[in-house]
Amino acid sequence: MDEKIFKLVLPTPFDVGDVNVYLVKGDSLTLIDAGVKTEEAWEAFKKQFKETGFEPRDIEQVVLTHHHPDHAGLLEWLPEDIPVYGHPYVRPWIEKDKEFIRSYDQFYSRLFTEFGMEGDFEKMLAALKAPLRYLAKRALTYEIEEGDVIPGFENWTVFETPGHAQSHLAFYREEDGTLIAGDHILASISSNPLLEPSLDPLKERPKPQLQYNRSLRKMLDLEIREVFTGHGPEVKKAHELIERRLSRQHDRAMQVLELLKEKPFTTFELTKILFPAVYEKQLGLTLSETTAQLDYLLSNEAITKRVNDDGTAYFSA
Ligand SMILES: [Zn+2]
Repeated sequence: MDEKIFKLVLPTPFDVGDVNVYLVKGDSLTLIDAGVKTEEAWEAFKKQFKETGFEPRDIEQVVLTHHHPDHAGLLEWLPEDIPVYGHPYVRPWIEKDKEFIRSYDQFYSRLFTEFGMEGDFEKMLAALKAPLRYLAKRALTYEIEEGDVIPGFENWTVFETPGHAQSHLAFYREEDGTLIAGDHILASISSNPLLEPSLDPLKERPKPQLQYNRSLRKMLDLEIREVFTGHGPEVKKAHELIERRLSRQHDRAMQVLELLKEKPFTTFELTKILFPAVYEKQLGLTLSETTAQLDYLLSNEAITKRVNDDGTAYFSA
């Protein structure tokens, strides 16, 4: 194999810490993901890039694992003629599609009501969207979906892995069982199944935990020798890790089920019980975690959902 993978580790202003981006030198020089749009990340990017023996202008194409700011921010500062590949869901985010952002606001406003939240929705929405200032403004050149072949990156099979993000893709090199997984598989933390609207605002809300579990199981069909992740170290025993993630999530859902056996709760009430120390600062992540367990329990018919006249949903075992 004459392909070489370089790992660049870039700082982010987020709790998750550093993000990994990869430079794959095969027929083309392909950058996988592009870090967060901050001066610190850009300086680190340029410095580590130099150590690979290349210059940022040598990049022939960028391929995105997903649209989140820590993975797609620095796109904005890369030379304009470099084509960018990503899932169709990346487009409205990096192109800052006003209509889509409006539907995102409506999506979350509706959820806040359903979750039984009190307080200033405008302020909560602003907090949810604050990280977007670290996301690039840039055109998506090519949309890619499962099974597509990317020119100059032909050794890698594209897999759709929705869950953590609606745009999430993973790239698998069958020849030696290498997977570039973005945030789909992480060594030391479980991926948050983030609540995001579907591309079509009229469509039903995606259920990210259920998608995520399906996307994880999909990886069990692959012979994986090594996983290059979006944050932290590589993963060697991917199948073991996946089984562990699936069973830990099931356990978390069972804890929620125990609470619901006592009395009905709203999503927001449960979130406060489950994440008392962090729910205010990490509203989006914690509401997504709670919803994840509720979606899972509903899909297993372990709980039921009742919506009041005011639109608030109550869950009971
Ligand atoms: Zn990430």
